[in-house]
Amino acid sequence: MSLKTTSQSEDRKNARYLVGKLKNFDPNLQAYFMLSACCLERRSEPKDSIAVDRESIGLEEPCMKYDTKSVLFTPRSVPVVGRQTYPMWKGVVSGLGFNRKWKNPKTLLFLPIETLPDRVKEFRIGENSLLQWLCNFLKIFFSGMDVKFDNSYDLAQVKFTKRTHSVTGKEQILVSDLYSRLHSSFNIPMSTYILALTWTDLYPKKELNFVLGEASYSCRCAVFGFGRYEPMSYVSTPEGDDATKGITKENQLGMDSQLLWKLIRVASHETCHLLGLNHCLFFECSMNESKSVKEALSQPLFLCPVCLRKLHKSLGFDIRQRYSELKNFLQNTNNYFQNDKFEISIAWLDKCLEKLKIKS
Ligand SMILES: [Zn+2]
Ligand SMILES: [Zn+2]
Repeated sequence: MSLKTTSQSEDRKNARYLVGKLKNFDPNLQAYFMLSACCLERRSEPKDSIAVDRESIGLEEPCMKYDTKSVLFTPRSVPVVGRQTYPMWKGVVSGLGFNRKWKNPKTLLFLPIETLPDRVKEFRIGENSLLQWLCNFLKIFFSGMDVKFDNSYDLAQVKFTKRTHSVTGKEQILVSDLYSRLHSSFNIPMSTYILALTWTDLYPKKELNFVLGEASYSCRCAVFGFGRYEPMSYVSTPEGDDATKGITKENQLGMDSQLLWKLIRVASHETCHLLGLNHCLFFECSMNESKSVKEALSQPLFLCPVCLRKLHKSLGFDIRQRYSELKNFLQNTNNYFQNDKFEISIAWLDKCLEKLKIKS
């Protein structure tokens, strides 16, 4: 067996391990998902290319080569323990244990559960309010899911644990306590996912300061917040103001492109958890775990091939169309609120669409 053939077969094996069978995808999408193989060590060939053997994936045309020092995906070191491949994810979500009766829910309720200050309510991105804009983003990122927006729910209906932060003196909600009670408190069926948005800050456990958001696959509920008092925030004065008194100064929350980026990053990450996606150890990816707010905001908006495979299996969208719509959405947002992160994301989407051979 030639060196090249050995390497190709190893790539196929690695890709199969990471993203499962690809025969139902067209050639360019197969090659795209095959890029996943570059995150695993290959023994027999320098990591300069992946040879996609079309015959092995059910095609008759000759092999195509794709660059694996992919400008699209940056591999991380992959520990053996703790990584969730596509087949592993599928095993968990396809009906094991308690979640069998709620298999494949397709409705996401986006619920702002606290009244926002007028300044935030009146904030516009083009024609849209902040919440409508966020909802529009979710509808594209989670294409195939029925995303519903309802701001008639009120946090006052829910019993949950709170504390006063020792430094900021502001109220915080214990996020895990909150998300475990929302379905029952609001009388929402467990077959529906909830993505709740709070104005009050969140904390994950007693010892920890702050969290932007958290999700529970078993509770089918995620909660994220505006993050007004976060210690590492771009918000210049952490003491802030009381939301109920109205806000007159810029010390409360920067209503700017950074805030927009933060909201879409956290909302998409937490919602992916609802679909059973664990933290990603394979690539630089939207599903990477973050140890700080700063780290969370520096991570990409988009999923690596392994995580995309899971999301696609959950929701069954058209991958090219979704990328194209995401690009339009970000371009439009960037026209109103320019941000380097939007521009880097738009450039990334362009490269993807080019790789997938679609004119945008
Ligand atoms: Zn996470
Ligand atoms: Zn990933």
